[in-house]
Amino acid sequence: MSSQPIAARPAFARWLATTNDITRTFLAAGRIPGLINMAGGLPAAETYPVAELAAIACDVVAAHPQEVLGYGPVEGLPELRDALAARFGSDALPLTRANVLVTSGGMQGLDLIGKVLLDDGGLIAGQFPTYLGALDAWRPRAPTFRNLMIEDAGFDAVAALAGAQFAYTVPNFSNPTGRLVGVEARQALVDAAHRTGTWLVEDDPYGTLHYDGAPLPRMLELSARSRPSGPYDGPVIYMGTLSKEIAPGLRIGWIIAAPEMIAALTLAKQGSDLCTSGLTQRVALAALEVGLIETVQPRILATYRERRDALCGAMVEHLGGWFDWEVPVGGMFVWATARDPSLDTDLLLPHAMAAGVCVAPSSVFDASGLNRRAIRINFTLNEPAKLAEGVRRLAQALMTMQARPG
Ligand code: PMP
Repeated sequence: MSSQPIAARPAFARWLATTNDITRTFLAAGRIPGLINMAGGLPAAETYPVAELAAIACDVVAAHPQEVLGYGPVEGLPELRDALAARFGSDALPLTRANVLVTSGGMQGLDLIGKVLLDDGGLIAGQFPTYLGALDAWRPRAPTFRNLMIEDAGFDAVAALAGAQFAYTVPNFSNPTGRLVGVEARQALVDAAHRTGTWLVEDDPYGTLHYDGAPLPRMLELSARSRPSGPYDGPVIYMGTLSKEIAPGLRIGWIIAAPEMIAALTLAKQGSDLCTSGLTQRVALAALEVGLIETVQPRILATYRERRDALCGAMVEHLGGWFDWEVPVGGMFVWATARDPSLDTDLLLPHAMAAGVCVAPSSVFDASGLNRRAIRINFTLNEPAKLAEGVRRLAQALMTMQARPG
């Protein structure tokens, strides 16, 4: 081979050194026949509004052929940006289309934020543990991570944000822990962002997957209250997606932020994909106009609530001696921490796979890879009986590991 091997290139080698092989193992688990995949964060396909989307797609191609089949504006379809500004804005939070960028899924938003805000080796203050996709999006810049321990008593938000290029949080039913960040901590983060000038990313793919209780105010809203007039120009960068509300295959996400930030992200998007698909943007706009989210939401919530309860019931039966966890009030995951601090969930993974089940070990949600005592279990993809069987297999894997640790 004449060209230089990719792995020998310093930037790629540096990037590769910070990835975790375990990630590849569990991401591939969905393709193994017979294996119960409780590792991924996948929605239940039976909740997709297939007939409604098929009808909408036919209509929009017929009605707007040039727009849906051609290139569109980098920022996104103006009408969709207006609709998103209307959905998230209010008198207290004035938003215009200049506050909105349409992205190709939430993942692209994370990538663009890294492109705009992160220098090589720059400092990210990230909620701990952190969404794996965010770590992956930013790894090419080999950032330094400061863990935000938001739930700890005495958490000092100003000290945590000071000097970081941005802070990253998933306050609603975090991926991976499924927990909610409380209102006081949200307010403290917002105040700290205003004080320190650090951009505060609020990644919110799960906000509408709320099974018990009432939703908490977004940090975007809390941030606007301290600046009551004019289009929003505060430090919060709010991100959303249709992936969990309708279907991930649409690849429609959005960023809501100060116009200056939207302009910078637009420049980054131009060099990334020129524009998000006009077809799925039109589908998304029509879906918002006919209230498709509200139509499918009861079905999604009922399905996921039942599955959460089935998973947690099976966990009580089979895993109570091994792990501690909280029943999540929303989202897609249960985060379970081993009672025995020496239990290594990276080592549990091969035993689990051999027993025919896969869960996500905690190391992949830690930039340092050191947190190896917990697992993330998804409850949205599988039916209740399969969840119960998966938990039974996991208990079997734990017993095998205990008997044959090597
Ligand atoms: N952020 C978080 C926290 C997520 O869990 C996900 C999806 N797993 C995303 C962003 C990206 O979602 P998508 O690209 O499908 O919109």
